[in-house]
Formats: sequence, structure tokens, C-alpha cells
Amino acid sequence: VKVNSEVIYSTQLLKTINKYKNVVMDSDQVKTIAATIASANMTNREVKKEHVRGIKQAAVEKNVKIAHDICPKCGSSLVDRKGKYGAFKGCSGYPKCRFVVK
Ligand SMILES: [Zn+2]
Repeated sequence: VKVNSEVIYSTQLLKTINKYKNVVMDSDQVKTIAATIASANMTNREVKKEHVRGIKQAAVEKNVKIAHDICPKCGSSLVDRKGKYGAFKGCSGYPKCRFVVK
């Protein structure tokens, strides 16, 4: 990958930022960018609740599919398999789908 910016570890972030001394944005630009980032955050309580509800619902649907021996990833059937470390239930679509019941 070719990039013009530096690729660093997060522990070097502050040190790297402090290397840049030239001001490239005025305070209005900074405010605009900060507002854009803030607007992307879920601040609305109902939106947050709906998001969590969706995640929980997806987990329930996944478990229902597994209970009916249907792979939640690809929709193929789940079959009993024997592996190096014992018996397990996995997707019949293997090796295309690598879903395994935990
Ligand atoms: Zn599958």
C-alpha cells in the first residue's frame, strides 16, 4: 500500500502529531470537521436503543437458525463432523463456508 502519510503505532500518535508545526486549517475548518464527527455519533437515545435492539434480534435469529441446523452465515445445512480435536457441528458448505457451532 502506498500512502503519503506516516503509518505509526497509536503509542506514537501524539509525538507524530507534534512534529507538524504548520497550521493548515483555520478554527472554522476545525469546528466544521469536529461537528461532522460529532454528528456521526449516536447521541439520540431512541436511535441507540434501536441499534442495540437490532443487534440482539440478529443474535436471536442466528440461534434459531442453528437450532434448526441451518448455517446462519450461508443458509446451508449444519452437519456433525469429526475433527482432530473431537466432534463438532459445522456447515455443509465447507470449505467455502467455515461456520462452526461453538
Ligand atoms: Zn455456511
